[in-house]
Amino acid sequence: MSNTLSCQAIIIHNISKLKKEMGKVVKTILLRQHIGAPATPVVKVGDSVKRGSLLAAPEKLGANVHSSVDGVVKEITEEAVIIEASEKQSDDYVKIEGENTLDLIKAAGIVGMGGAGFPTAVKLNIDLKGGYILVNAAECEPLLEHNMKQIMEQPEKTMRGIDYCMKVTNAAKGVIAIKKKHEEEIKVLLSLQEKFPNISIHLLPDIYPMGEERAVVREVLGKLLPPTSLPSEADSVVINVETCLRIAEAIEDKKPCFLKNISVGGKLKKGTKTQVFMDVPIGTTVGELIEMAGGIDGEYGEIVLGGPFTGHAVELSTPITKTSGGILVTEPFKDLKGAKMGILLCACGGNLERMEDLCKKYNAVVTDVQACKQAEDVRGTLKCQNPGNCPGQAQKILHFKNAGCTDVIIGNCSDCTNTVMGSAPKMNLNVHHQTDHIFETVGMEPMRYLTKSKVVEQLPVDDKGRQLPFPKEEEKTEQAVKQEFSFSTMLDDGLFHIHVEEGQDIHIEFS
Ligand code: SF4
Repeated sequence: MSNTLSCQAIIIHNISKLKKEMGKVVKTILLRQHIGAPATPVVKVGDSVKRGSLLAAPEKLGANVHSSVDGVVKEITEEAVIIEASEKQSDDYVKIEGENTLDLIKAAGIVGMGGAGFPTAVKLNIDLKGGYILVNAAECEPLLEHNMKQIMEQPEKTMRGIDYCMKVTNAAKGVIAIKKKHEEEIKVLLSLQEKFPNISIHLLPDIYPMGEERAVVREVLGKLLPPTSLPSEADSVVINVETCLRIAEAIEDKKPCFLKNISVGGKLKKGTKTQVFMDVPIGTTVGELIEMAGGIDGEYGEIVLGGPFTGHAVELSTPITKTSGGILVTEPFKDLKGAKMGILLCACGGNLERMEDLCKKYNAVVTDVQACKQAEDVRGTLKCQNPGNCPGQAQKILHFKNAGCTDVIIGNCSDCTNTVMGSAPKMNLNVHHQTDHIFETVGMEPMRYLTKSKVVEQLPVDDKGRQLPFPKEEEKTEQAVKQEFSFSTMLDDGLFHIHVEEGQDIHIEFS
C-alpha cells in the first residue's frame, strides 16, 4: 500500500499518441515502474521483440523492463518504449538467465507489486539471521480482490515463492498477514501447512490501513517501528503476496515480470461488482481493461488507478505497470457549489495533489489544509507514526472551523475518521471522505464510524503447534454448552455462587 509512484500519472498523460493506432494494438511499456531512476532502453526503433525480451535495464537503483508482447519497437520516448504488437501472439516468452535466486529475481525485473515498486532483488539482498519474511496479503484497499483470487488459484506457487524469499534471506519463519474475513483463502493456506511447516498465518482486522509495511510488522511481531525505520530493524522483510508469486515464476519458469493481476470495478455495464483479470500484459491500457470488464455505464466522474485510498485519477489511455492494482470507475461528482473546504491529510490516504484534485471535481474551494498529527514528513513523503491508531483530530477540526471552512474532506484511516465524526458535526462542518464517491458507486456505506474491532482473535493451534481453522458456528455453540460455568457475586447477606458442570441443567428464577 503506497502512493509513492502516483506521480507517474502525470507523466503518462503527456505521452500522447501512444495508444491504439487504427487497427493496431500498441503497448506502452513505461521505463519507470519502480522506485529509482527510469531504466535505460537497450532496444532501438524497428527492433523485433518477443514476450519477455529485455527492453531496458537500470543504471542505478531500478529494475529491468521487458516486453509483454511479441512485436516491433515503434517509438522510444523519455518515459516509455512503445511496441506495436504482432497480430499473432505466442504463449512462449524469452527466458531469463541467472546463477542463483537473487540473480533470477533481479533479471526478471521484479518490484514490489503492491504499489511500492521497490526493486525486490535489492530488498531481499539481506541476511535476516533467522528472522521473518512477512507476506503482505492484507489487500488493504477496499474493492481490490486480485490478491485473494491469486491465493485461491495458485496457493502452492505462492507458498513456494514465500519459501524462496525465506531461503535467500536466511529467514527461519514466513508469516502471511491476511484479514480474518477471508475465511476460504485462509482454509486453502492452512491446507498447505504440512508442506510448508515454517510458514504460518497472522490474522488482521478489517480496518484501514493494515497493509502499510510498519503496520504489518506491528500486527505480526508486536513491534512499532518509527517512520524512518525499515522492517529489517525488526529482523524482517515485508513482501507483497503477488511479488512472491512472480518470484516463484522467475525461479521455476525463468519468467520475466511482464504480467500483472488487476481488479476492475465501479460504474460498469456488467454491474459494479469487482472483476479480476489475472496475468494482464503490462502496458495494457486502463481503457482496454475497462472494455474487457464490460465498458463504462453512462456518465462517470473519474477513473481511479489504484485503490480508493491511495489511487489517483487517470485517463483511458494510461498503461498499467508492475505496481498497478485496481481500476475503479466512479459516479459523477456531486456539486458542492463552492463549499469552503478544509483538507485533512492522512499519511496512508491521498496526498495533497489528490485531495486538491477531488476538491476541484466537487466544485469546492480549498480553504485550509491540515495533516493528521501522526503524519510525519520523511524525505518528502508523509508516513504515519502508528498507522490506524488515532491520535485525536478535534484540534484539527477546530482549526478548520476557525479558518472559516464549511466542509472538510478527509483521507483518514478508519479510526481517525471515527474521531473526526466525534467533533466535526458538532461544529456544523460537513464531512466528506475521499472514498465517498467510490463507495457510493458500488453501494457501500460511506466511511464514517468505526464499526469493526481493531483486534482480532488468532487461529487456534493444536498440540503439535499447527494452526487450525476456527470451529464452525454450530461447533462453537456445542463447545459452549459443554463448558463448565461458574458465577459468583457478593450479595448483602453473603456470597451467591453457582457452579454448573457439563450435562447438568439448572433453572434459576429471581423474584
Ligand atoms: S493516524 Fe493519522 S496518519 Fe495515521 S493512518 Fe490514521 S489518519 Fe492516517
